[in-house]
Amino acid sequence: MSDKKWVYLFDQVDEAEERAGDWESVRGLLGGKGANLGEMTRIGVPVPPGFTVTTEACIVYQDDQIFPEGMWDQVMASMRAVEEKAGKKFGDPTNPLLVSCRSGAKMSMPGMMDTVLNIGLNDETAKGMIELTQNARFVFDSYRRLVQMFGSVVLGIPDEAFEDELDSYKAAKSVQSDTDLDAEDWKYLTEKFKAVVKKEMGFDFPQEPEKQLELAIKAVFNSWNGKRAVDYRRRAGIPDDLGTAVNIQTMVFGNMGWDSGTGVAFTRDPGSGEKKLYGDFLLNAQGEDVVAGIRNTEPISQLADEMPDVYRQFEEITLNLENHYHDMQDVEFTIEKGKLWMLQTRSGKRTAKAAIKVAVDMVNEGLIDRKEAVLRVDPEHVDQMLHPQFDPEIVEEARNDNRLLASGVNASPGAAVGQVYFDADTAEKMAHEEGQDVIMVRPFTKPDDVHGMLAAKGILTSEGGATSHAAVVARQFGVPCVVGASMMSINLEKRELRSNGKVIKEGDWISLDGSSGEAYIGKLDLTTPDLEEQKELMTLLDWADENSRLEVWVNADYPADAIRARSFGAKGIGLCRTEHMFFEEERLPHVEKMIINAEEAQKLIDIAERLEASLETGRFEGRPLTDETRKMVEAELAEAKAALEGSKAVKAYYEALDVLLPLQRGDFYGLFEAMDGLPVIIRLIDPPLHEFLPSQEDLLVDVTTMRLKGEKDGLEEKEILLDAVNRLHESNPMMGLRGIRLGIVYPDIMRMQVRAIFEAASEAAQKGFVVYPEIMIPLTGHINELKSVQPELEAIAKSVMAEKNVNFNYKFGTMIEIPRAALTAGEIAEVAEFFSFGTNDLTQMGFGYSRDDAERNFLFTYVDKGILPVNPFQVLDRKGIGRLMELAVKEGREVRPDLEVGICGEHGGDPSSIEFCHLVGNNYVSCSPFRVPVARLAAAHANIKNS
Ligand code: PEP
Ligand code: MG
Repeated sequence: MSDKKWVYLFDQVDEAEERAGDWESVRGLLGGKGANLGEMTRIGVPVPPGFTVTTEACIVYQDDQIFPEGMWDQVMASMRAVEEKAGKKFGDPTNPLLVSCRSGAKMSMPGMMDTVLNIGLNDETAKGMIELTQNARFVFDSYRRLVQMFGSVVLGIPDEAFEDELDSYKAAKSVQSDTDLDAEDWKYLTEKFKAVVKKEMGFDFPQEPEKQLELAIKAVFNSWNGKRAVDYRRRAGIPDDLGTAVNIQTMVFGNMGWDSGTGVAFTRDPGSGEKKLYGDFLLNAQGEDVVAGIRNTEPISQLADEMPDVYRQFEEITLNLENHYHDMQDVEFTIEKGKLWMLQTRSGKRTAKAAIKVAVDMVNEGLIDRKEAVLRVDPEHVDQMLHPQFDPEIVEEARNDNRLLASGVNASPGAAVGQVYFDADTAEKMAHEEGQDVIMVRPFTKPDDVHGMLAAKGILTSEGGATSHAAVVARQFGVPCVVGASMMSINLEKRELRSNGKVIKEGDWISLDGSSGEAYIGKLDLTTPDLEEQKELMTLLDWADENSRLEVWVNADYPADAIRARSFGAKGIGLCRTEHMFFEEERLPHVEKMIINAEEAQKLIDIAERLEASLETGRFEGRPLTDETRKMVEAELAEAKAALEGSKAVKAYYEALDVLLPLQRGDFYGLFEAMDGLPVIIRLIDPPLHEFLPSQEDLLVDVTTMRLKGEKDGLEEKEILLDAVNRLHESNPMMGLRGIRLGIVYPDIMRMQVRAIFEAASEAAQKGFVVYPEIMIPLTGHINELKSVQPELEAIAKSVMAEKNVNFNYKFGTMIEIPRAALTAGEIAEVAEFFSFGTNDLTQMGFGYSRDDAERNFLFTYVDKGILPVNPFQVLDRKGIGRLMELAVKEGREVRPDLEVGICGEHGGDPSSIEFCHLVGNNYVSCSPFRVPVARLAAAHANIKNS
């Protein structure tokens, strides 16, 4: 027989720690809840006795749905120990022990898995309990709860089957609230519920306590792979192979009368981070009444009036817990006949704002150090701080216009505007399939609604409090949310809501303010918050920078972006996509002119250059020049020069370049000014030229229509454009004439850009700005490409500096975005002074997935089916694409030890990808302006976690 330990009593946490090694591993073994129950027991907090079945048992169970060998015996032995401590016996009709059975994974997954309470009650023990408590109402209320939970959780009977019985009974008796029902009512309903089980399952509700327990543990194990738990894990990035522990704990009852109660609380305000107890409680109730948000709860401060001694003890315990765990706690408690029991403590979920405030406050209170504070805030939380808000004036206006629809609890901050849908499936469908902005409106939410909540821009409920399901889930994922807007009456059948004299139908627009707890009809304008105002975040980001090795740069094309990014803490521009400026309306005609004439002009230029080179080298077509051939070449050159002189195409080509040069110079000047003292990487033109021309289809339609109608005006221009588009057409433009290839085929475009950059930098330098231009050549795949392009561009740089009589440092480098470039990085680093990983293209070409089409066609299916863990265009694929990067950094630095390495693909703003960039030794990551604060924090996380 296996002697492996599958079960730990709460007071055996020392033993678990000895075996697991460290606390993190204890949490892995016993789950977060189990570990905390053990820890609370260890530090003397009043916790009802119990034990934890390990996550390892859950994992073994998943193989063939059989408990691992020896586990059940250990459960029974532990039960005996608990009986001893509780002074009651499981299944003993005279003094029965009742237990709860709850899931508890390593990472908290609130409400995602199953719970069964009051296990151990049956017809016999119920009688015994009545004898003991002299409270038949309480006993039958507990018994019917067991039948209902067991029925729905363990046996899979729809909850409605029980709720309908209860509702129709209440309706028949004309009572509103559950508290109006008496012992006889609950006794009757218990029988009714048992009949529901019999009807739905064909067998009786199991009377044997051990059977109840066995099936409940199995149900919790199975719930690990239930749809809602799996969905939640996908979203929260929790691995599937952790498993859940199961906690079996002595029941204590908050529904034993008005000297009993139950509640949940946070040791600080999870919305604002303010240091004060925050939560709700209910007298004469069980836990799920509070969490489900079905009965309206009292604020925790009220407990001070109702039970001052208990409240004082509660304050003391929660303060101790915070001091012990050095973190804000989320606790559950029950008062049974005036005695306080703590059922659970865990690190409290909080809004972004609260996470930042609590972290900074705790450093100031001496509870944690700066590094820890930095780690306490999820980089994605920072993103929430940058979420749109409503301008107070606009809100005021809406209020004055009588557009207030409802107000409730401000459960999760941020503003959202969207169309109303009344159930999770429709909300998800409208968001994902129709691309709508959705506000999901429900009386209250349940874990089954999570997919709709995640798809929604905002969530609004008519019931529930600050700790209800809707509030907790929305806060975690940063979805703006208002709960308990009780003035609303929602008619799910008619698909409408009535509130404050207004009627909202499904599909109507509303605006939701999760920060103020209000909803308005129609659309209110959203504004973006000013980061400068968020002092605590600034402090935290400064601490993050102190603890980072990677710098964070920005992808910015315009001075306004650069200025914003700099205020967000960017330390350079990692990518300016110069071609973006070509798309501006007044420039496009010149860009078109340049493109249309490029080919013909270049042909003539090439002929003349070839002949000139021939005279210079004294060779023609591989042979030394003779007198005769020299004469011929000279004659041809004269002819070619004449052709160049007289060519309309050449004239038009250079005219266009001459117009574009000062415009680009102006663009770049603004960047150098904005980034005074910091590096600015400017990438030379990258996309295929046809992207700057109108679409082939549109032109064809225009030209055909004009021809048919006999319209002459403008026809020739359109025909010339169409001709150019046809000539430039490629089957795979992403792999066609773009990037450095353009620089080789039409060199004057990049020459113009380099001249513009150095003229701008010179001008800025002359005005006293400190400039560090870095010229980035895109799409290099072979060293010879770079050798052909870079020296010549450098010569232009030098000549401009000489002309302007200024000197400053600059670099020439390349993007590494073609797998071959990564694989030959050693060669490339001989020429390139810096690398910047273009992971958008590197992913495209590394996977062979078209970045324009894959997400639309198959990539989401791949992720849904688990073929890929995530979308590789969002989160860097470390194993494949990352390997190319690692190799490139290593081999590049072998040749050029001071090689500067960055990343400018979209991954530069993704925390996991940023960590990888840290690990491979990048100097910086570059991302969009709004991601800069997120990336700063992620860079610090990467450094702290890996050092
Ligand atoms: C890249 O490929 O990652 C990149 C930054 O360039 P672009 O997205 O412009 O192709
Ligand atoms: Mg690219």
